[in-house]
Amino acid sequence: MDLIDAQLRLPAVEPEWVERVRGPGGPLGDMAHAVGGPFHVLHPARFAENAAGFRRVLAEYQVPGRVYFGKKANKSGCWLEECTRTDTGVDVASVPEFAEALAHGIRGHEIVVTGAAKSDRLVWLAARHGALLAVDALDELDRVCALAETAGTPRILLRVLPETNPHSRFGFTGDELGEAIRRCVAAGDALRIEGFSFHLNGYEVAPRAALAAELIERCRAARAAGLPADSISIGGGFAVDYLDSADWERFQREAEDSRSLAELFHAGKQFTHFYPYHSEPTGSRMLAAILDTDGLAARLRETGTRLLLEPGRALLDGCGFSVFPVQGYKPRQDYGIVTVAGLSMSISEQWKGSEYLPDPVLWPESGPGEPVSACVGGSSCLDYDMLSWRKIAFPRAPRPGDLLVYPNTAGYQMDKNETEFHQLPLPARIVVSTENERARWRIERPLS
Ligand SMILES: *Cc1c(COP(=O)(O)O)cnc(C)c1O
Repeated sequence: MDLIDAQLRLPAVEPEWVERVRGPGGPLGDMAHAVGGPFHVLHPARFAENAAGFRRVLAEYQVPGRVYFGKKANKSGCWLEECTRTDTGVDVASVPEFAEALAHGIRGHEIVVTGAAKSDRLVWLAARHGALLAVDALDELDRVCALAETAGTPRILLRVLPETNPHSRFGFTGDELGEAIRRCVAAGDALRIEGFSFHLNGYEVAPRAALAAELIERCRAARAAGLPADSISIGGGFAVDYLDSADWERFQREAEDSRSLAELFHAGKQFTHFYPYHSEPTGSRMLAAILDTDGLAARLRETGTRLLLEPGRALLDGCGFSVFPVQGYKPRQDYGIVTVAGLSMSISEQWKGSEYLPDPVLWPESGPGEPVSACVGGSSCLDYDMLSWRKIAFPRAPRPGDLLVYPNTAGYQMDKNETEFHQLPLPARIVVSTENERARWRIERPLS
């Protein structure tokens, strides 16, 4: 018992709708019965709230601009319909993502295309539909110019290689930017350069504000050269809170001691880095903090510069969770091993040499048996197919018929790495709405 009580708990911060689905009288058990395997639960209304939060900050600061949803963070179509309702654009990086955005009602001018060396097909499609293209290299700029003849005038941004991120493979160096501007001037009306963009690793306010200020000056210089450049895109990377600060600090204290860190994980597994599961500020408040830094909002207003942003994870905060039926439980000497129906590919953090730390929740919570501590494995033949290497504290031993619910997985966890390994079907996707106090649900099907 002592060992279990001392077990580190990392309960997720969860929005209210989750209880209506997972709590007493909620439909979670029916969903599991209908699906008969692992599944993801998605709540689009929460996405709309998150999007409205970002828009509200732009309005409060009287900064003109647009929010684009970084689509790669989740494959579902249900978010795109919320984008149409909240005047949110979409950031895509492939032809299928582009086509799906259009099919869900997003219009071409509401799409920004990012990513490395884009295919001719994608560039052509973007130009045909009047989407904004974040150009990443000089040869790509030349291809864009060449395609303009058949596709119409492309709208472009030039993506900048940040000095704080010098080893990134994305973006133009300072010298390349000078050459790109010369080529844009030479291209004349064949091309419409609307400004500059960046996307930074990490979740810091200061480097984003500093680089944004620099890009405003680049826009001014480009306008002085006769180009229309009046927009900057600051990309994504808006932080999300998965855990409260006390739990996260406690975990970090324990993690400083590598011996106790090894104790926390199955097989003495060691990790060198974790996502910052708690930070401050997050989401739209992080946007406000960026706008507050060194008078950035005022600078945008004075110079008539539009602010574009591309949050992915932050728009999906609190928007979904993932459910895995328990298939077995094996007690070992001092902790157990749970095996679930489903694979660790449905928890993508496990494939980045790290661990998704928020506690999975055993459903139903009550039942016979003493509290146990256990790691969680997937139903493949791989020893390293682990949904949680960490020894999780459970109120009782999980057993077949129970469910394990991984919280707040909509941003990148659920489908980034999913495969049909072992010829297993991909997890089902269930969309819930909670109008009139009642949670209603439907299975989401692909468009085609
Ligand atoms: C992935 C990506 C985003 C979204 O990043 P988040 O961390 O999910 O906010 C935005 N812009 C670009 C160019 C990206 O590659």
